[in-house]
Amino acid sequence: MKQFTCGDVVAGCSRTFVAADSDALLTQVTGHARSDHGLADVPAELVGQVLLAIREAA
Ligand SMILES: [Zn+2]
Repeated sequence: MKQFTCGDVVAGCSRTFVAADSDALLTQVTGHARSDHGLADVPAELVGQVLLAIREAA
């Protein structure tokens, strides 16, 4: 399982996501970025930061 904490990229956000793999995680995170951070499009740079911040979940 993969885990991503949004606060690692967006200061002040406490949402954490867990998914089976990075692709599924990215789908959740981009949806969250749209609805909660007002990003209509997630820039490639931000996707890169998200990928770097993904950790293995226990
Ligand atoms: Zn967030």
